[in-house]
Amino acid sequence: MSRYFDPFDADRPLRLQCACGRDHRPDEHDAVMARDQAVQELQRRSETEDFETYSREFIEASLMKAIFPQDAVRRRFLRAVGKGTAMAAISSVLPTASLQAMAQEAGPLEKKELKIGFIPITCATPLIMAHPLGFYRKQGLDVSVIKTAGWALIRDKMLNKEYDATHFLSPMPLAISMGLGSNAKPMNVATIQNTNGQAITLHVKHKDKRDPKQWKGFKFAVPFEYSMHNFLLRYYVAEAGLDPDRDIQIRVVPPPEMVANLRAGNIDGYLGPDPFNQRAVFEEIGFIHILTKELWDGHPCCAFGTSAEFIQQNPNTFAALYRAVLTAAAMARQPKNRELIAKVISPAQYLNQPEAVVTQVLTGRFADGLGNVRNVPDRADFNPIPWQSMAVWMLTQMKRWGYVKGDVNYKQIAEQVFLLTDAKKHMKALGETAPEGAYPGFKVMGKPFDPAKPDAYVNSFAIRRT
Ligand SMILES: [Zn+2]
Ligand SMILES: [Zn+2]
Repeated sequence: MSRYFDPFDADRPLRLQCACGRDHRPDEHDAVMARDQAVQELQRRSETEDFETYSREFIEASLMKAIFPQDAVRRRFLRAVGKGTAMAAISSVLPTASLQAMAQEAGPLEKKELKIGFIPITCATPLIMAHPLGFYRKQGLDVSVIKTAGWALIRDKMLNKEYDATHFLSPMPLAISMGLGSNAKPMNVATIQNTNGQAITLHVKHKDKRDPKQWKGFKFAVPFEYSMHNFLLRYYVAEAGLDPDRDIQIRVVPPPEMVANLRAGNIDGYLGPDPFNQRAVFEEIGFIHILTKELWDGHPCCAFGTSAEFIQQNPNTFAALYRAVLTAAAMARQPKNRELIAKVISPAQYLNQPEAVVTQVLTGRFADGLGNVRNVPDRADFNPIPWQSMAVWMLTQMKRWGYVKGDVNYKQIAEQVFLLTDAKKHMKALGETAPEGAYPGFKVMGKPFDPAKPDAYVNSFAIRRT
């Protein structure tokens, strides 16, 4: 035991603390050291020229793809105006690009001490890891990341300005901006935090009920009404012919309480964020029925956002924050970093989960609770681009299920809240044909979504509240 304690040293007080002098229990020493090494290695990787190039190109490429989803249009535009003009046009309108310039010029920060809320789920990986890896500090910010008990509390703390910015469920800023469930206050999605990364988990007693048609009478949990979880669960059961308001029950349960509720038999399953799907498998209480990636590959889930007021009052601070979170997202996208990131975000002050559970989520190599080890590297991903067509889809589901009544101005709300801004307007000012960017279509359970025809989409579903 002399490695950990020194009870026979007359010159030192005997504390049941680690002999290395740091504030942890002796039995935690090895884990703490391994975590420190992971932090150092990730920091080293983030400072290589290779990563800086990757990060910059990742952001530029993502932006160009957002503005020009059709590659032919992108190439035509570049040939017409040249690279320099194209980049200037983008940086004049998109916060993601202007922040790059700002990060280099280091404009004076309006506010340095910031509070950012988060829910302890792997969706929040970029904004959590930016803390131990020092990405906020590097931008001159003193950020506290504050673990929060549930989404209603996140909303309230954003409304009363206790938090400067936060981890949101991506439909939340839409709902808050529209005054659904709270006073209306303009909120923005600055980046999508994560894509994919959710699952439907069922209690082990339901291993023989793999067809959702057998789920009549089931009780499900989702993290919040205005969540992709709620919308995707409703979509999935409705495709199987079940009415989510009549044939099953859906209740709101904060993610950290989902496993306990499954164990207690209060619910039959949930469409929840990770690590709680994997945690249920780890505890042998549940199994992963389906990954949400299999319903809509690349779907958005959580977001990083703040109020429109904060951005107006603190543009340089916002840009610095944005840069830190995007750097983290670029790192999190690289599969080679995932194992180390799991080590860094598993501890008590962040996710408070067994590292083995978080590693399975982030690497995509996981036990599904049905006896299989699956290998799905993009089970969770971190593409930060807030496509406005995603916002339009969320609004169609709010309309479909009666959360919003009457006419919805889909595009206007999407463009106000999802910060891809009015790039097109500025393209026009340059005398260029405005590309139909920022609205790429996609498929949900094989069915194409045309963001130009949202009401027709809502009406195309047999099961709906409108
Ligand atoms: Zn120690
Ligand atoms: Zn999420």
